[in-house]
Amino acid sequence: MTQPSKIWLSSPHMGGNEQKYVQEAFDTNWVAPLGPNVNGFESDLENFLGNGSHVAALSSGTAAIHLALILLDVKPSDIVVCQSFTFSASANPIAYQCATPVFVDSEPETWNMCPKALDEALLDLSKKGKKPKAIVAVHLYGMPFKADELRAVADKYGVPIVEDSAEALGSTYKGRKCGTFGDISILSFNGNKIITTSGGGALVSKHKNIKEKAVFLATQARDNAPHYQHSEIGHNYRLSNICAGIGRGQMEVLEKHISLRRKVNSFYSDYFSAIEGVTVLTEPNADYFSNHWLSAIVIDPIVVGKTREDLRLALEAANIESRPLWKPMHLQPVFSESDYYGTNVSETLFDNGLCLPSGSNLQIEEIERIKQVFDDFFVKKM
Ligand SMILES: *Cc1c(COP(=O)(O)O)cnc(C)c1O
Repeated sequence: MTQPSKIWLSSPHMGGNEQKYVQEAFDTNWVAPLGPNVNGFESDLENFLGNGSHVAALSSGTAAIHLALILLDVKPSDIVVCQSFTFSASANPIAYQCATPVFVDSEPETWNMCPKALDEALLDLSKKGKKPKAIVAVHLYGMPFKADELRAVADKYGVPIVEDSAEALGSTYKGRKCGTFGDISILSFNGNKIITTSGGGALVSKHKNIKEKAVFLATQARDNAPHYQHSEIGHNYRLSNICAGIGRGQMEVLEKHISLRRKVNSFYSDYFSAIEGVTVLTEPNADYFSNHWLSAIVIDPIVVGKTREDLRLALEAANIESRPLWKPMHLQPVFSESDYYGTNVSETLFDNGLCLPSGSNLQIEEIERIKQVFDDFFVKKM
């Protein structure tokens, strides 16, 4: 018996014009980490985000977070507060700067940084005479964080926000685009994100001089001199003009791909409305609009009688990829010494949550195969 083809969690989905822009780069010999596609991709993103955004295209989202921390003057032994429930790339750049991460729990509505836990952390740190240099807050799976509440707490203590919008391009909160809420914001265009440049990222700021400083640091921090002169440590973090060409093509289909991902999410929401003990991550109210980069569920093992790992294995047996939710950073061996403020929300999500195939390129037959596994696995409400 031949195995059915693999259904991926989220795979690249080309729009059609990507190769045209890449071909242009070859035709004009802009095969370099600068050129018309880099400029074009940046202005596409600036137009999309609006709100006076200035965008620096970089080699990855991780590089963008690293530069954001440098621009906020994060130095060795400084403290940076970070959402615990996230991908390690949100936190690793804190360690690149030899700074100390302090992790904060999520709230159960959006699964992102809990404003109350953040307040508790900042209050406790201030009592110890410590003021963090930055707060890294994340819009996980495309779901916007509680932007107003987090901003109010951050402002109360005078700490800037690094908005990790790697998963949330096209999501909005109160009509404003994710990627415009941070003092500095970042995007990712890695292979499995809502749009991809094969690998890439961006730093977003309302200030033109921040963008220019980011580009300066991303291109080895060369001083203005005919020879190579350096007064600061630089990095090689600029986006390739080839990759930026892919990005320009992807920007043409971003809105379409968001609506396709939201359709996939509607399928899961409809399906699980008939299953007791399973909840789908959905917008808490009309203030939130998620790109639904990944659709994610939480299984109550007592009600369902089976665990999320049982479901993951059932899907795997049918050659369908699914993945447990992010393992919180404070539970990671590499960050086990770090402080943590919270009440078990992220731990419970990790124990019981699963991301399901969510690509904008999922075919109807593939949805049918996923549904078949669910039908065999769950008992429907009577
Ligand atoms: C993907 C991702 C990043 C890192 O982006 P890269 O482009 O892969 O370096 C950072 N934070 C979150 C939440 C991500 O999902």
